[in-house]
Amino acid sequence: MAGSEAGKLWVVATPIGNLADWSPRAREVLAAVDVIAAEDTRHSAALLAHCNIATRTLALHEHNERERSADLVQRMRDGAQIALISDAGTPLVSDPGYRLVRAARTAGIAVSPVPGACAAIAALSVAGLPSDRFVFEGFLPAKSAARRAHLQALSLETRTLVFYESSHRIGECLRDCASVLGGTRAAVLARELTKLFETVLDGTLDQVCARVESDANQQRGEFVLLVAGAPGDADAAKLAEGRRVFDILRRELPPSRAAKLAAEISGASRKDLYDTLRDHEEQP
Ligand code: SAM
Repeated sequence: MAGSEAGKLWVVATPIGNLADWSPRAREVLAAVDVIAAEDTRHSAALLAHCNIATRTLALHEHNERERSADLVQRMRDGAQIALISDAGTPLVSDPGYRLVRAARTAGIAVSPVPGACAAIAALSVAGLPSDRFVFEGFLPAKSAARRAHLQALSLETRTLVFYESSHRIGECLRDCASVLGGTRAAVLARELTKLFETVLDGTLDQVCARVESDANQQRGEFVLLVAGAPGDADAAKLAEGRRVFDILRRELPPSRAAKLAAEISGASRKDLYDTLRDHEEQP
């Protein structure tokens, strides 16, 4: 990289907790560039100091990304080597940087990744849920009504669902997932990955929800929530939907009435739905 005349943008991943996850190449690039565009310069100062990197930083966050991108692209046109980092993990993954990368590419500037940690991928790698296809959904809406509507739109998605969540919403997020997607769906909650209090809980959504609600420690830190996709074949999908509708109707109606209506609403075979409910001891 040193001595190169052409400007370039390096998109550099940083650790998601464990500082031993800095890659040698990430450190080499960050030490060599002219400037580092960082989401939060104060936060990054500590990370960079840990590696004795003294490169100048400037802030690039969601509020100034538009204007700053134009300035940075001009610098790269003039030959500058610039690195983009975020507070943790891979920039652009639920983090700023998309506008800068697009502006650089539009200007014909080379953009090169220095890959490393990403919480979603780290969680997927230890979840034991189907990982050949998955959907990264990032953060769900903060308000429950919008969150539930969003989940409803995902309820027939067959690929594994991957969400980010923060400590102040993890309880309500899990409750909404269980009630909209169905409490019997398999789920994995990956907390504080690569850090001292790393935990990976698995079970049904109902079970994971109960574990988190009963233990305040499990509500602290940073989370990736993974939920198994809906069953692939149409009958199984209708059955899952019937089970979900039953869970809602059961709050107001006797089991037999709830089951009859759930079968009608979802289109599931009444016999299959009854059998499933019986397996889960919800005698219709
Ligand atoms: N760009 C980052 C990445 O590559 O994963 C993600 C940035 S996003 C603003 C921050 C969210 O990522 C957190 O709220 C949490 O959902 C997830 N996250 C980050 N670090 C994590 C960790 N160590 N364990 C679990 N989840 C984490």
